[in-house]
Amino acid sequence: VTVGVPRERTPGERRVALVPEAVALLRTAGIDVLIETGAGSAAWFTDADYTAAGAETVPFDVLCARADAVLCVGPPDADSARALRSGQTLVGLLEPARHPGLVRDLRGRGVRTISLDLLPRTLSRAQAMDALTSQANVAGYKAALVAAEAYDRFLPMLTTAAGTTRPAQVLVLGAGVAGLQAIATARRLGAVVTAYDVRPASRGEVESLGARFLDIPSPPPQEGPGIERGGYARELTAGEQRAQRAALDAHIARCDIVITTAQVPGRRPPLLVSRDALKRMRPGSVVVDLAASGSGGNVEGSEPDKTDVLEGGVTLIGAGRLPSATATAASTAYARNLVALLRHLVRDGVLVLDPADEITAALMGGDTP
Ligand code: NAD
Repeated sequence: VTVGVPRERTPGERRVALVPEAVALLRTAGIDVLIETGAGSAAWFTDADYTAAGAETVPFDVLCARADAVLCVGPPDADSARALRSGQTLVGLLEPARHPGLVRDLRGRGVRTISLDLLPRTLSRAQAMDALTSQANVAGYKAALVAAEAYDRFLPMLTTAAGTTRPAQVLVLGAGVAGLQAIATARRLGAVVTAYDVRPASRGEVESLGARFLDIPSPPPQEGPGIERGGYARELTAGEQRAQRAALDAHIARCDIVITTAQVPGRRPPLLVSRDALKRMRPGSVVVDLAASGSGGNVEGSEPDKTDVLEGGVTLIGAGRLPSATATAASTAYARNLVALLRHLVRDGVLVLDPADEITAALMGGDTP
């Protein structure tokens, strides 16, 4: 079987689906690898690195003609999608819920799709393939650094001959994969960290990282079923959201840095920090919204890839593509996920998409070849 890695076409995307280390592992497994010329350069991997690892670097059209499977990070642009042919398989974070037309068109033309974002994440044998987790981990790490960079004081307590500085107070809202890594990173920089998540199970994870779990009253249970669904948080009712914001407001005002990461699968991210809460923060405070999206994020007024210094002196950063901004680490982690996936799918040198296999069926989104 031959896999091909094109250069990512999305503007600003610096990641690449395979890194040289992963190429070497695939070659050992008997998989041939084609890399589009220059595909890794934005993540600091040269064509020579890939060739040394056993890949062949080729132009895009040759790649499309020869690859059985095309491996990408994000969804391809329209031109690249058109270049794929019947019998080929496209693998990547295709987000079919967000781009239903892309997957439908490809399937209509006989191109099979493997959407890594559809992975059943709680299956332990799928964990090595979990690209959402690997990329959220990178995003959480970078979010803490972006916040520290925009904050004009020290994060740690520093004792010098001229006196002692107090450590920064960091609040992390949403303690899933990204939130936990933001907590760990802010702690490593010496901040005092408090965190909150609606899932009670996250308390132990927060505390094991040396952070304090924020005790605000849980949403009243009479307003809905339990707070979790399939391991994820459910969307809070409007009343619960208002109560949550009111409880959070007082804590937010006392913090120097707030990092928000809350998501609810298939829904708009919950609004956790209102404009009023931002107004009550001290000048020089920093808020990073990792959930910033075109349709709103966790912080009122945040937009992806946009930094605003608000009237009260608060810097509001809508995170854009943090994994892409940490392209080498993010690509390395993503490539390991792909190696695990290909080891699962390739049997006796052939790519086998078996709909009876739980992982494959989920990744194909119910599509049967
Ligand atoms: P996510 O990106 O969907 O959400 C991030 C966090 O936001 C979650 O922890 C969620 O509970 C929280 N959240 C949602 N609404 C909120 C609100 N109103 N207020 C505060 N917080 C809110 O989640 P994720 O990071 O992908 O992970 C979610 C869960 O899945 C975690 O328990 C994680 O450990 C688990 N997980 C398990 C596996 C596995 O078993 N292999 C893999 C990945 C994730």
